[in-house]
Amino acid sequence: MKPAPFAYHRPEGVDEALALLAEHGYDAKLLAGGQSLVPAMNFRLAQPAVLIDLNRVHALDYVTRADAGLRIGAMTRQSTVERSPLVAADAPLIAETLPFVAHAQIRNRGTVGGSIAHADPAGELGAVMLALDARVHLRGPGGARAVPASAFYTGLFGTALEADEMLTEVEVPVRAARTGWAFDEVARRHGDYALAGLAAWVAVDEDGRCTEARIALLGVGDAPMLAREAAAALVGQMPTEDAIRAAAEAASQRDVDPPGDIHASPAYRRQLTNVLVRRVLPRAFARAAAEA
Ligand code: FAD
Repeated sequence: MKPAPFAYHRPEGVDEALALLAEHGYDAKLLAGGQSLVPAMNFRLAQPAVLIDLNRVHALDYVTRADAGLRIGAMTRQSTVERSPLVAADAPLIAETLPFVAHAQIRNRGTVGGSIAHADPAGELGAVMLALDARVHLRGPGGARAVPASAFYTGLFGTALEADEMLTEVEVPVRAARTGWAFDEVARRHGDYALAGLAAWVAVDEDGRCTEARIALLGVGDAPMLAREAAAALVGQMPTEDAIRAAAEAASQRDVDPPGDIHASPAYRRQLTNVLVRRVLPRAFARAAAEA
């Protein structure tokens, strides 16, 4: 199918894009890489009257390091981030995860901002932003604001973004000593949206005892989510097999209430959650120990 008719604007700067959003509000949609929006328009699941194409807003295409944060502009292509030496050095969880997002051709067009704003419950980058405790920077007519990733996702395809706001940047704390990370997911085929996935970030003290943990899940709820009970089960513990098994039980039995669909039942997604905790957490703790 072809999309419903729409008016088309191609602003060259953030202010111009925001002025168009202010003018058209709920009738308008921002176009980034188009890898989710264009198929939705072709199927007429989305029928914006006005399309605001951000592809000439080059000011939002960057990866920079500032103080303790890595800053990634919303229009940075996923493939650019995947190959960025800064990302590999300072936020290796992002580099490890991006090859799981769709296929290389899609990542050449798809943007970091588009993926986070799209808020697919099975989106890998959303879970990674939760695990890294990223801040999502938004701009609107009232100015700029920063929202912690943990407050950004509000439900099924729901975010903290207002209709007249745009996502401009994500800011990720850079890797610190005695911290570790890891990602894995289960998908029917590599590049498909995952049935379930897990991004972990952990910190340990000089003895190797867990002092902090963020375990973010995708594909098992309305939105990417933090497994808070599983994290609480690990903090203060040595990361033994028993401790990680207890965290896996907490995640799969208490943190998640997964949906069922034609691809997987709720019980199967619970089981995947359990398996992923036991598969991913040992790698994250091993890296934390190596980073001491
Ligand atoms: P667009 O499609 O242009 O926009 C998506 C939405 O975000 C729209 O509602 C748009 O208005 C909004 N938006 C975009 N930019 C902004 C902004 N700066 N501020 C506010 N709102 C904004 N994704 C995964 O995470 N994992 C997968 O496994 C995966 N598999 C895929 C497989 C296929 C075959 C395809 C076609 C896509 C897949 N995707 C997957 C989606 C892909 O990662 C998209 O690139 C991404 O979800 C959207 O990014 P985009 O830049 O293309 O955004």
